[in-house]
Amino acid sequence: MVLIPDESVDQRISELARSWARVVATSSFVPEGRAQARVVTEHALRRIVGALGAPEFDATVGHRVGAYLVANHMSSPRTLGDSINLLGNRLLDELGVRSHTTRSRLAALLGQFATGFTEALRDAALTAAEDINRAERAAWRDQQRRMYRRLQHALLHDQLTDLPNRAQFTGWLEETLVRAPADARVGLCLINLDRFKAINDSIGMQMADQLLLAVANRLRPQANRYGHFLAHLGGDTFAIGLERTTSSDDVAKVADRALRSLSDPVRLDGMQIPITASAGIVEQAVAGAQAVELIRAADISVGWAKTDKGGHRRGGGRWALFDPERNAAEVRKHTLTAAMPAGLARDEFGLVYQPLVRLSDDTIVGVEALARWHHPEFGLISPGQFIPQAEDTGLIVPLGIMLLEQACDQAAEWRAATGEPLLMSVNLAVAQIRTPGLVAAIGAVLRRTGWPAEWLQLEITESAFIGSDEALATLDALTGLGIRLSIDDFGTGYSNLAYLAELPVHNVKLAASFLRGVDTPSEAARSNETILPALITLSHDLDLSVTAEGIETAGQAQRLLGLECDFGQGYHLGRPMAASRITGLLLP
Ligand code: C2E
Ligand code: MG
Ligand code: MG
Repeated sequence: MVLIPDESVDQRISELARSWARVVATSSFVPEGRAQARVVTEHALRRIVGALGAPEFDATVGHRVGAYLVANHMSSPRTLGDSINLLGNRLLDELGVRSHTTRSRLAALLGQFATGFTEALRDAALTAAEDINRAERAAWRDQQRRMYRRLQHALLHDQLTDLPNRAQFTGWLEETLVRAPADARVGLCLINLDRFKAINDSIGMQMADQLLLAVANRLRPQANRYGHFLAHLGGDTFAIGLERTTSSDDVAKVADRALRSLSDPVRLDGMQIPITASAGIVEQAVAGAQAVELIRAADISVGWAKTDKGGHRRGGGRWALFDPERNAAEVRKHTLTAAMPAGLARDEFGLVYQPLVRLSDDTIVGVEALARWHHPEFGLISPGQFIPQAEDTGLIVPLGIMLLEQACDQAAEWRAATGEPLLMSVNLAVAQIRTPGLVAAIGAVLRRTGWPAEWLQLEITESAFIGSDEALATLDALTGLGIRLSIDDFGTGYSNLAYLAELPVHNVKLAASFLRGVDTPSEAARSNETILPALITLSHDLDLSVTAEGIETAGQAQRLLGLECDFGQGYHLGRPMAASRITGLLLP
């Protein structure tokens, strides 16, 4: 069957194509416009008509026409429905054919048309989606890169000052240590504002931030100029790193310059805020150096710059150089302090005893109990290394009572062995005197051990007597129990002679320094030659007995006897020793 359209049919086809174009235009947006839509529908329609009448029927023409429409942007779902309706209802009428074959051919063509249309639509959607996807992915990657860079920056910089932060400084130092030749040296200077917390509290956090910015701005030009690595480690701490130093002087110069630049007040909001800073410096060979350790060392030195060796605050505005030996001593001190409670619980503290000798007849009239710590790891530790810490932590209170009880028990044991009591002299720390309940606790020890108060002497340094009525009341209460009091190390503290008369004391222990040069002529000897007799005479006038500490030679003992000093203590007369050895001396 061949359809040969005559002229009028040909016109009707064009007419139908126009209608089709109109229908399509209402449901799809054809960017190229109505005219183009007409060209497309005309072409499409003619291909369908061609297929309807072709000698060899090919239904896939419908498929291609459907795809053709979509390719020309006539692709909305409504276009598909409207097109099928239009062609299905009108085409055969317009062509004037009604045969069964043609009808079934048209049905097949329209079926293929629908398939072609939807498949093309799906493909188009997929490509469009892919395009969008690709663009989105690119944008996302871009954004990620930007975010990564921002994050990277944030991770390595201080938010406020935008200077390299601790992480970056540590990284820089690590790299510097690795890169440097084996014989090179490096230096660090850590700078910390003095009393920043107080400043922060008084001007508020926002102004304090401005202040930190001002500090950064003062330090930055110096670092840039000399090629040093400036960082803001956080809070009010800045760091300056120096590559290739030759000695600590290089870092000291940098510290001086930095501190000087920070010594002028900072102008903020019309206010002049006075500031100073302290610096800690460390300078050493790169060999064996570790970044984190170096920073720690500089940090420790900042602490030293701010305080004196006793840990008291100084004015600030200075720097300190790291000293490994001082640090080791401090570490050891902290280690010991931390280990003390466990040591007390494990009974590691004990006493040795040093004879107190009457100089006129060399008789042992008493002993001084001296604390010792038998540390399982560090061995025997002398009281100078743990009594001050025990005072700081308050552990001296239970420790002191425990030792007192040990001493009284021991004294009672000796009396039982010899039939004679001897004076038990026990040291009392200032911190103990300032602790309420001391008198009751000592009274309880005397009751528990049965040791008579009259044969107990407590040694107290001068500082315990100064400026505290409560301390004086405590001492009065102790003498009230019948206990003897002795001023320990007299002459090393305030040495207020006039004061002696008013104190509830029985004995004065002259510090060992008074004996310096007493048997060998020297500068110190000459002044001691005049002071010693005066001190002894004065004490006697006040009804106080006198003990000389630190007698190391027979000559000293002789001289003191000549000055009518009552008692002596020292290596020449007997070293501090275990209780059993004292027993041996008491029971010959
Ligand atoms: P201190 O009370 O003045 O004790 C005398 C110190 O001088 C003792 O040192 C003793 O070993 C030492 N010494 C004795 N004779 C000589 C001598 O001839 N030459 C020299 N160079 N030194 C001599 P140690 O045992 O190291 O005690 C040091 C300080 O620790 C004591 O000084 C005392 O203040 C304190 N201390 C000792 N035990 C206790 C205690 O149980 N409680 C308290 N609170 N402090 C104690
Ligand atoms: Mg003493
Ligand atoms: Mg002493």
